[in-house]
Amino acid sequence: MTCREFVEFLEAYLSRDLGPAEQAEFERHLAACEACRRYLESYRKAVELGKRAFEPSAEPVPPQVPESLVRAILKAKREQKS
Ligand SMILES: [Zn+2]
Repeated sequence: MTCREFVEFLEAYLSRDLGPAEQAEFERHLAACEACRRYLESYRKAVELGKRAFEPSAEPVPPQVPESLVRAILKAKREQKS
């Protein structure tokens, strides 16, 4: 798998749409490629923060997102409403 294919598979991977073979390929590339690990991490953070900002009742933000950042976003959102 190339980095380009990795990026193309990323959304399917995160929504658990990959078959077992594709997922194994994906994870093999992820283990070997630091650039893609970093890409995945920032992509996940962006997605989770986006969810949290627009749907406060969504699932809890995973621990790798700093609490302080999440609180700041929620606070800004509350202040906007009032
Ligand atoms: Zn890569």
